[in-house]
Amino acid sequence: MTKIKIMSVRDEDIVYIEDWAKKNNVEYELSRHPLTDDNIDEAEGFDGLSLSQQIPISEEVFAKLKSFGIKQIAQRSAGFDTYDLELASKYGIVVSNVPSYSPSSIAEFAVTQAINIVRNFNAIQNKMKVHDFRWESSILSKSISELKVAVIGTGRIGSIVAKIFAQGYDCEVVAYDPFPNEVSEEYVTYQPTLQEAIEGADIVTLHVPATKYNHHLFDKHIFSHFKKGAVFVNCARGSLVDTNALLSSIDSGQIKGAALDTYEFERGLFPSDQREQQFNDQLLQQLIDREDIIITPHIAFYTDAAVKNLIVDALDATLEVLQTGTTHLRVN
Ligand code: NAD
Repeated sequence: MTKIKIMSVRDEDIVYIEDWAKKNNVEYELSRHPLTDDNIDEAEGFDGLSLSQQIPISEEVFAKLKSFGIKQIAQRSAGFDTYDLELASKYGIVVSNVPSYSPSSIAEFAVTQAINIVRNFNAIQNKMKVHDFRWESSILSKSISELKVAVIGTGRIGSIVAKIFAQGYDCEVVAYDPFPNEVSEEYVTYQPTLQEAIEGADIVTLHVPATKYNHHLFDKHIFSHFKKGAVFVNCARGSLVDTNALLSSIDSGQIKGAALDTYEFERGLFPSDQREQQFNDQLLQQLIDREDIIITPHIAFYTDAAVKNLIVDALDATLEVLQTGTTHLRVN
C-alpha cells in the first residue's frame, strides 16, 4: 500500500486527510512539525511527502529524500517561494503547490473587511465596550451602494471581489489589471493605469501577486492619488505595500482607514502564538492598536472549504507523481 508522510499538520486538517486516505486506499503518518535537518529521518520508508513548509529546506535534506527514494513534495499552499526549486530538481524532487484553494473565501473576507472599515466597526465596538451607546457623527457611515470600488488585479480572487461589489452591493466598480479578463468586463470598467483606477475610488482593494518587481507598489506616491477619505484593503501580500507610507496617509486624513490581512514583515509571525513572547515589532503593534485599521494574521483564506481543498489537491498531486512521474500542479 502507498505510504505518505504528511507534515505541519493542524487539527482541522485531520478529518480531510482521513477521508482522502480512506477513499484512495493510502496509508499515512502525520507530524505537526515542518521538515528539518533534525527530523528528516522520519521521512524514510514513505513513498510520498506533503508539507506546509514555511522555512527553507537544506541541500542535505533534499539529498536524503533522494536517498530514501522520495520523488516529490506536495506543498499545501499557493506560495512556494520557501523552496529552492533548482536544488529540488537537482535531486529529482517534483515540487507541487495548490495555486487556488478557495478564492471565494478570500474575496468574501476582503469585502467584509472593506465594509467594516467603511462602517466604522472598530470605533462602534470600542464605544460599545465602554457602554457608550450614542449615535454620533464620528460613527456616521456611508452606504456601500453609493461607493465606487477599485479592484487592483482581477484574477481568481479580484474578479470575485468585483462581482460581489457590483452585483451584490450595486457599486460602481473600476479595475486595473494589465491582463483584463472578459468575464469581469461584464461588471467592471477597466482603467488604463493603476493611478487612473484608484483616483476617485472610495474603496481600493488589492489582489495582485507579489513579485520582485512590485515591492511597495502602493507607496507614498500612489497613496497621494487616493480620493480623500478612501478605504484601502490588502488581502494579497504585505510586500506590495509600504506600511509607513500607508500610516502617514491615514494620519494626514488622505485615507480613512485600512483593512490588512497581510503585513510586509509577517514572516515568522503569521501564524504563530506570541502571547508569552516579548513583542518587539512596534510597527505591527501600531497597526493592531489603531481604531482606523483592522489587521488580521493572513487569515482571509481560512475556511473549512480552503482547508479541505488544500489537503485534497496536495494529496492528489502526490499520487499523480507516484503514478505518472509528474503532476499538473508541478512548479519546478
Ligand atoms: P491570480 O494570479 O489569479 O490573479 C492575479 C491578477 O493580478 C492577474 O490577473 C494579474 O494579471 C494581475 N496583476 C499582476 N500584476 C498586477 C499589477 N501590477 N497591477 C494590477 N494587476 C496585476 O491571483 P489570485 O489567486 O487572485 O491571488 C491574488 C493575491 O491574493 C495574491 O497576492 C495571493 O498571494 C493573495 N492570497 C492571499 C490569501 C490570504 O489568505 N490573504 C490567500 C491566497 C492568496
